[in-house]
Amino acid sequence: MTDRDTRHKQSMQKLKRHVDEKIAEAKEQRGLLLVFTGNGKGKTTAAWGTVTRALGYGYKAGVIQFIKGLWECGERERLIGDANLEVQVMATGFTWDTQNRESDTRACLEVWKEAERMLADDAVYLVVLDEITYMLKFGYLDIDVVKKAIADRPEEQTVIITGRNAHRELVDMADTVTEMQETRHAFNSGLQARRGIDY
Ligand code: ATP
Ligand code: MG
Repeated sequence: MTDRDTRHKQSMQKLKRHVDEKIAEAKEQRGLLLVFTGNGKGKTTAAWGTVTRALGYGYKAGVIQFIKGLWECGERERLIGDANLEVQVMATGFTWDTQNRESDTRACLEVWKEAERMLADDAVYLVVLDEITYMLKFGYLDIDVVKKAIADRPEEQTVIITGRNAHRELVDMADTVTEMQETRHAFNSGLQARRGIDY
């Protein structure tokens, strides 16, 4: 064995000890609150990835899309039809297009009712509140109402929140917070959003 091999082996042994200790320390089992925020790309993709993961084990998942987006959504097309998946989409579409607070608020509260139903259902293993951060930012939804529904959810249920500028109180509540940091985005070099990649 070369010196480098020996050093590698030692550092791997140290890493394994560290990981084993952490595994032994982790004793609690319950549903989690995850927040995927930040300006970089990948928040919604990561949420759908987790939905796929949950469905893969036969769990029930619910996705609420608070902003329909400008385009269709490949993950939804692929997974819809799975009896364990329920998707609810806010009716008005994109707020930059509608520019109407009153109708947006109404549509938001309507789809929030569906979210509340899922958040109260212990058969639902995973609930994704996609782009809900904007609903709070625009004042369509009240932070205390959202916090209560999340806090009162069934113990085994996991919730994922996505969107930029996540409310500080949601970040404080969350078990896992990931901030996608934008190093570069193709859009800023004039590249169009790509089907099957960006949506
Ligand atoms: P994705 O849906 O690809 O996981 P996201 O959820 O992190 O992205 P959003 O802020 O919800 O990002 O953006 C929605 C759309 O805008 C997606 O098509 C995404 O690819 C694109 N997008 C994401 N980040 C940026 C960015 N920094 N600049 C421009 N467009 C972006
Ligand atoms: Mg998104």
